[in-house]
Formats: sequence, C-alpha cells, structure tokens
Amino acid sequence: MEVFEKIKELKQYLASAKKSGKSIGFVPTMGALHLGHIALINESKQQNDITVCSVFVNPTQFNDKTDLDKYPRTLEADKKLLEAAQCDVLFAPSVNEIYPVANNSDEQKTINVNLGLLDKVMEGAMRPGHFRGVIQVVSRLFDIVEPNKAYFGQKDFQQLAVIKAMTKQLNYPVDIVGCSIVRENDGLAMSSRNVRLNADERAAAPLISKTLFKVKELADKLSSEELKILVAHELADSAHLKLEYFEIVNSETLQPINKPEEVAHSVACIAVWAGKVRLIDNVILY
Ligand code: AMP
Repeated sequence: MEVFEKIKELKQYLASAKKSGKSIGFVPTMGALHLGHIALINESKQQNDITVCSVFVNPTQFNDKTDLDKYPRTLEADKKLLEAAQCDVLFAPSVNEIYPVANNSDEQKTINVNLGLLDKVMEGAMRPGHFRGVIQVVSRLFDIVEPNKAYFGQKDFQQLAVIKAMTKQLNYPVDIVGCSIVRENDGLAMSSRNVRLNADERAAAPLISKTLFKVKELADKLSSEELKILVAHELADSAHLKLEYFEIVNSETLQPINKPEEVAHSVACIAVWAGKVRLIDNVILY
C-alpha cells in the first residue's frame, strides 16, 4: 500500500495511474477503522482499479471541542487493517495540509451549496455547522483525489443525502455509492466512537438497534407519533442510554412524515447518548 501525507505526492501518483486509464474509487474516513469502513473499501475494490482511503479527523465538522479532542486516533492500526484489506493508497494528511490558511475558520466553511432543509433536521439541528464542515472537507478531498466513485455508509444517512446534494450542485463528476450499515453480532452499528463506551454503556447500547428493528416491524401498523412514543418508552428504562432524537423521515427530503407507509421511501433515524458518547443509527423502513 502506498502511503501519502502530502497532497502533491498523492496527486502525482494518481495522475500517472489516471493516465494509464485506471479508475479511482475513494473512501473518505476519520480513521479508527473498523469493519464498517472495510466494507466500503471492499466495495470500492470491486468496482475500481485503484482504491484510495483517506484518514483525516476533520476539525471543521466538530461542533463540540471535547468530541474532537477525544476522537480516537489509531493510524498504525488503521494502516494494518487497510493493508490486510489490500487497499491501494492511504492518504493521511495533517490539518495544515488540508487547511493551510487558518484552521476552523468560518470563512473556509463557505462553500456555495444550498442544502435547503437537508441540514435543518436531526444531525443538522443538533450539531450546528457540522454539515458545512463535512461539505468543506469532502469537496476539498474530491478536488485532490478526483475519484470516479466515492463510497459512504448509510450509517450516516443524512450525511449521504448531503453529499449527494453537494456533488450534484457543484457538478463533481463522481458517482456517490451508499453502502449498508455493518453491525456487531449483537446489532450495535459499528462506529469509531464505540471504543469510548465503558462496559455498562457497551452492554446497554444494542438496545438502540433492537428498538429500531421493532420500529421496522411495526411500521405498517403505527403512526410516526405512536412509534416515537414506543421508542421513548423502550429507552426510558435504560440507566445508561438517553434518547436525543428519534425521527421518521422521507429518505430523500429527510423531512418528518406522519405515517411511514405514506411515502415510497422512509427511514427511521435515532441519536442516543450512552454516557458521554453520542451514537447514531437508522433503519430503512420502505
Ligand atoms: P467516519 O470515519 O466515521 O467518518 O466514517 C467514514 C465512512 O464510513 C462514512 O461514510 C461512514 O458512513 C462509514 N461508516 C462508518 N460506520 C459504518 C458502519 N457501521 N457501516 C457502514 N459504513 C460505516
């Protein structure tokens, strides 16, 4: 596996690959890699000649400084996992390499994309500025890597919708591929933040996906309001989990709907605090 920290060197390498007609698949990550990330790598490897994975903890998408400081950084272990998955290229730049002027400045976040209502709900409402930061870094990474296809997990369902909107509006010639959620055996969605859970929180956390699966089972019988009450009730008994939001939304517009069956495509999304760790998950209903 080729490892690059510098934009210039990565671009040189990719330019010669592109010259010889090779297609590039790109998997942007913040590292602390797990099998959810590796599923994206595998998908990219199947569909492209060269797979590039980036590991970059992007400061501009964190609205909570403690979350940024505590975000796990495990580059050596990440390298091993990527080598085992036969990833072709790892791009692991410094913050200065990506944001050479001033880190974290609002000015740098102003990329001309109209997200409409996409970032007004759920993660957008709870984490002000988060999606502006995501758009900023992904557009920068797209400019550097110039991939043919880019791979994102449905685990971050709203992020996938935002990236699709950004790609369309900025006319990037990149196919955005959404990949299914990879879960632990007990149903917990894999996440880099799971390593921060203590034993009690980890033991409690599978209740999140269990509750979502129950919602899916009952989606044709109950209204969104009734399902919200059910979810609040299921989680209320846990001493270690605190519900932040649960929404049933149209999976294209991300706007709340009254009855899951009313629209062709809907998804149930949840955010839960397990102690000081914020976990998100979702299940596609229709
Ligand atoms: P992150 O490093 O958390 O920013 O995630 C990088 C990419 O991996 C994003 O597109 C995520 O949606 C995706 N991802 C993270 N966890 C999972 C998972 N459990 N299953 C599938 N994709 C995931």
